[in-house]
Amino acid sequence: MARPTSATVHIDALRHNLGQVRLRAPGSRVMAVVKADGYGHGLERVARALTGADAFGVAALSDAERLRAAGLSQPIVLLSGFDEPEDLPRLRQLGVQTVVHHASQLEMLEQAAPGDAIPCWLKVDTGMHRLGFAPETVREVHARLAAMPAVGEIVLMTHFASSDEFADSPTQGRQTREQIRIFHEATAGLPGLRSLANSAAVLGWRDASADWVRPGGALYGLSVVAGTTGADFGLRPAMTLSTRLIAINRIRQGECIGYSATWRCPEDMPVGVAAIGYGDGYPRHAPAGTPVLVRGRRVPVIGRVSMDLMTLDLRGVPDARVGDAVTLWGPELPAETIADAAGTIGYELTCSITRRVRFVEQ
Ligand SMILES: *Cc1c(COP(=O)(O)O)cnc(C)c1O
Repeated sequence: MARPTSATVHIDALRHNLGQVRLRAPGSRVMAVVKADGYGHGLERVARALTGADAFGVAALSDAERLRAAGLSQPIVLLSGFDEPEDLPRLRQLGVQTVVHHASQLEMLEQAAPGDAIPCWLKVDTGMHRLGFAPETVREVHARLAAMPAVGEIVLMTHFASSDEFADSPTQGRQTREQIRIFHEATAGLPGLRSLANSAAVLGWRDASADWVRPGGALYGLSVVAGTTGADFGLRPAMTLSTRLIAINRIRQGECIGYSATWRCPEDMPVGVAAIGYGDGYPRHAPAGTPVLVRGRRVPVIGRVSMDLMTLDLRGVPDARVGDAVTLWGPELPAETIADAAGTIGYELTCSITRRVRFVEQ
């Protein structure tokens, strides 16, 4: 029998979420961020669902190649930029735009062979301190880029570190306010479109929508705002992860379940075994008590999540049968809830689904 573990990707939810982003940023173009294989939902699948986006954002040139091979002709932006001179002919050939965030890239662009002008997104480091030029250097970098024959249109961009703290919070949001101020100051008077907002900023920093918004997580229905789920913002989860019960065993009071015997049965009880584990991408860190759905009811994981299997306390579902569907996350059980329990965010959960999980579209 094939493993019953599957990830169902909800195409309508992806489209709905793009619509929600457009409602919240009505004056902005939308770059759908599809890096990490579309946050684990499948790069080509997501891009085909989101052909209504104005561009796609990727983190690897190989992803841009896959999108073009799939016949997608939208603009594509390489968010982490190019690394070596050989990337430039590939960018040109694929018609891909690139982020420029480092002096080493300026040299490569200056020495580029003659050819099509490459649109560049000049990244300003306004406080995230990951990628980007220091604010005081932006004018000089812009002038250098503008003078290069290899460089086409220049878009000015930055990335927020803490936009999950919303603008309307009386006690939070200081870093984002400061990043916005620094960005405007560093780019004042320069020509070109502007882009600042990731998903959380689309949801909570309306004034930062500018010319281009760059949502990722929101398109997949995921929230990064503590204590919330995508549904709180009108978003719909784009993935259901499910499997089946392959055994139900009655275990005696006092017996322990699974590796290292971390969970002891308080009474004689039914223990379900579901065909999913960390080998499928379900987080091993999910502690006992993390909910899953059996017959529409929440039951707790018990014992350690193992590679292929997990064990469930079925006392709350006495009518459960071998073969019943088990939902790990989806519209009825937000990935954010599981992420909270496992000490991570929903993004990491969907990105971590492994290759042996069968993907289905619905
Ligand atoms: C990943 C990424 C985004 C999207 O972030 P979300 O939180 O998923 O919306 C936007 N911009 C850049 C530069 C990114 O790297």
